Amino acid sequence: MPATNKKSIRELDERELSEWLKAHNQPQFRFQQIHDWFFSKLAVTFDDMANVPKSLREELAQDFAPSSLNPATTLHAEDGTVKWASELFDGTKVETVLIRAPERSTVCISTQVGCPVRCAFCESGRLGFVRNLKTIEIIDQVILASHELGKRVDNVVVMGTGEPMFNLDNLIPALNFLCSAENGLSISARNITVSTSGIPNGIRRLADQKRPWNLALSLHAPNDRIRAQLIPEKNRHPIRQILEACAAYNEATGRMITFEYVLIDGINSSETNARDLAKLARLTHAKVNLIPLNSSSTTWKAPAKEQCHKFLDTLTSYGIQATIRLRKGDKIKAACGQLVARKGEEKHQPEADTKKKQE
Ligand code: SF4
Repeated sequence: MPATNKKSIRELDERELSEWLKAHNQPQFRFQQIHDWFFSKLAVTFDDMANVPKSLREELAQDFAPSSLNPATTLHAEDGTVKWASELFDGTKVETVLIRAPERSTVCISTQVGCPVRCAFCESGRLGFVRNLKTIEIIDQVILASHELGKRVDNVVVMGTGEPMFNLDNLIPALNFLCSAENGLSISARNITVSTSGIPNGIRRLADQKRPWNLALSLHAPNDRIRAQLIPEKNRHPIRQILEACAAYNEATGRMITFEYVLIDGINSSETNARDLAKLARLTHAKVNLIPLNSSSTTWKAPAKEQCHKFLDTLTSYGIQATIRLRKGDKIKAACGQLVARKGEEKHQPEADTKKKQE
């Protein structure tokens, strides 16, 4: 069932909620109760508000939505990873993943329904672009994961479906809300990472915010020739221009850039590729996350484990801070787009021979 298009309770400012309570003959102390439930206690339904009378809960439900998301499918992996495909008011779906680790929890959120970039290895790109998510639809993914966790998540990574730089009008207010100590979730800006396929104008606009959000660049190739095999021309920019924008981001925010690099056997995983990548990382003062391609891809595959480690060793021999990212939630299809794809979204236009995206 799609979520409703009613205004979300979390979208109301202090004045609006106070006026609504007054118009409904409610004492003002209810304001603090409702505020606490939806901003501190991370309620996702009106019935969560145990100390609020049922009649008031019903009145609120008539005028507002407790969440812009209706989780249609929820999958739990043995390693604690949870993945949701949530229906939105228009029947489209959005994916969110909660990743638990002993020392911290991370939610991976989406910014668009489908994605216009259409990277060759990405399931979300295969689904095609439908629309940008609204600010509240971005925020509610963090609330959903926090509610599951029973406390606010530690980290937010904007690495799910969509190119965040194409939806900055909604993403920036959402991030400001998540970081706000007054009216938001009080998440440290340094615990938020925005990932991009490399849109220079968007990176510069985000830099202009001068907030210490982390920036991850999905580089995936050490040169423009290889990158052309992975990212269609329409939304692909020269590496030089992207790295100049990254340098501006680093200067404006003081945050070190991360290169995300999906390792694909025979495409971008040679010794020469590693050396060229190391030079780019050194030039940009970037660290590198290596992500072996999800083996569920039919056409391309990840390099052998030894080759991945050799690639890593080459980077570190150049003094580059680099890691191979462990994948979580493989069994529940935690790579972006896989859950929506699995459930079959007739509205999207699948292409025949594309491959899976890595988280
Ligand atoms: S990898 Fe990211 S930018 Fe590329 S198609 Fe997938 S969601 Fe879009």
